[in-house]
Amino acid sequence: MFNLVIFGGPGSGKGTQSDKLIDRYGLTHISTGQMLREEIAAGTELGKIADSYISNGNLIPDKLMCEILADEIDKLAPAAKGFIFDGFPRTIHQAEELEKILERRGMKVDHVVGLEVPDEELTSRLLNRGQGRADDNAETISRRLEVYHATTSPLRDYYVNSGIYRPIHGLGSIDEIFNRIIEAIGQNV
Ligand code: AMP
Repeated sequence: MFNLVIFGGPGSGKGTQSDKLIDRYGLTHISTGQMLREEIAAGTELGKIADSYISNGNLIPDKLMCEILADEIDKLAPAAKGFIFDGFPRTIHQAEELEKILERRGMKVDHVVGLEVPDEELTSRLLNRGQGRADDNAETISRRLEVYHATTSPLRDYYVNSGIYRPIHGLGSIDEIFNRIIEAIGQNV
């Protein structure tokens, strides 16, 4: 088992680089944002709860998010060579829970790939992406960035301190950024 967390602000390229990492290493994708959007699209009870947070740019409460994540890991683990966690964890509490959830199952996070992109660039990428996603509008974007800085970015130090944070310069072409990631984690795969 080889597990990655892909970490960075909204619009930092987590989804794009996850797809390339999945192709390269045969990892199984767990994108909490995507899972929640599927629940919303299907009109489930969970989807209704999720929508009330997502549409305002706020985070789903930790307890609920961690339960959803643990269930998804259990569903996918039998067929997985390893996971790429995209959009999770987003709080220190989620990071601590992830560690416990994985430890109980004999797993751990091997690398945290941190896509480092300035805010101005994040905003312009999200506005350009705005056609597809309900939460990619100016108001929600600015709230998501606020939440990112207040709640999620402290995780960088948390993972730097655990020695598994790989900082990646997140500007440039998709392939340039991907090559930086491969270089940072490649020797250990
Ligand atoms: P994403 O696709 O990762 O940008 O996620 C879209 C939205 O889903 C976020 O703005 C949050 O409202 C919600 N979300 C996704 N992942 C999480 C998480 N780990 N914890 C709390 N909320 C999340």
